[in-house]
Amino acid sequence: MPAYPRNYEIWYTYAAGFNRGLNKAINDILRAHGTITPGQLDTIYSEHLAPNRLNDRIEEVGGKISTELRSIVREVEEYVSTASNYGDALVGASKNLSMTEDRQVIRQIVSELINETKDVEEQNRALSEQLATSQAQVVELRETLDTIRYESLTDDLTTLANRKHFDRSLQQAMEEAEHTGDPLTLLMTDIDHFKKFNDTFGHQTGDQVLRLVAIAVKQNVKGQDIPCRYGGEEFAVILPKTNLRQALAVAENIRKAVMAKELIKRSTGENLGRITISIGCSSYAPGDSIQEVIERADQCLYAAKRSGRNLVKCETDPDVDVLETAITTTGAA
Ligand code: GH3
Ligand code: MG
Ligand code: MG
Repeated sequence: MPAYPRNYEIWYTYAAGFNRGLNKAINDILRAHGTITPGQLDTIYSEHLAPNRLNDRIEEVGGKISTELRSIVREVEEYVSTASNYGDALVGASKNLSMTEDRQVIRQIVSELINETKDVEEQNRALSEQLATSQAQVVELRETLDTIRYESLTDDLTTLANRKHFDRSLQQAMEEAEHTGDPLTLLMTDIDHFKKFNDTFGHQTGDQVLRLVAIAVKQNVKGQDIPCRYGGEEFAVILPKTNLRQALAVAENIRKAVMAKELIKRSTGENLGRITISIGCSSYAPGDSIQEVIERADQCLYAAKRSGRNLVKCETDPDVDVLETAITTTGAA
């Protein structure tokens, strides 16, 4: 499969496993044919990944839910009316039976009751069929909603968690750390001299580099760590149950992984050199606000930039404090 960004996105999403519709579509084709064609991938992309899919699919789910509810209500109304007719028929039959001893008349009444009962049975069957169909629809809709939820919290370019997901996750992680007393650390990363890279090689190539950095970040975290795209060329990693020393080791691994990649432009084979990132690391202290934790990681990141870039800095590094004092002083002046 040619490694175009779009194919990459498809297979990345497939491997991540969150977009069940996409995985099912691919698996169905692979099961049937053992291979998949570019044309089939086009269709899968437009159905499961194309940019406007989110709004379209929210509307689609909303429409399906209304249709489903309407048919359930219609079926239940019919059922209620049949059941009420049946009740009337039973009362009538009971009255008639008490007034006669004629076997012929009794036989007639019983035969009518059997017919009424058949109608109710028929209605019962229709209702349970309708409910079974609706249940299947609801399972499908729930899966679609899971996918929509995943997409609304995912950054399209890198498939990492987006800013919204980051804000929620950090809030959650902080509440948990407050509750359990476990350490919690935050990494903020920023690509070094990325503007120059874009200016030199173009924004599209810059975007490819962003994907590459995202992979490096993702590959160097695990378990409950949450890597996110914080903004343009800034990535954040939330590290629950991780102290500053452990977080520094993770940050170093990420920094080295990015630096180790030689950038080759696929279309031309041109060697674009390497890029580096700077990382700031803060740890949560009970009572901190989200902004305070982010702010401290940012200060460390700026210290790393000022100290020459391609560096990891944390709150306890002496030069972070020194530089911060300098900034505060300048700011006050
Ligand atoms: P520094 O080492 O100080 O970070 O230098 P820098 O040039 O990287 O400065 P800064 O972090 O302010 O750069 C932001 C630049 O990142 C601006 C823009 O060119 C680039 N950028 C931001 N978002 C995107 C994006 O989504 N795609 C691409 N290709 N480039 C982006
Ligand atoms: Mg930046
Ligand atoms: Mg930068």
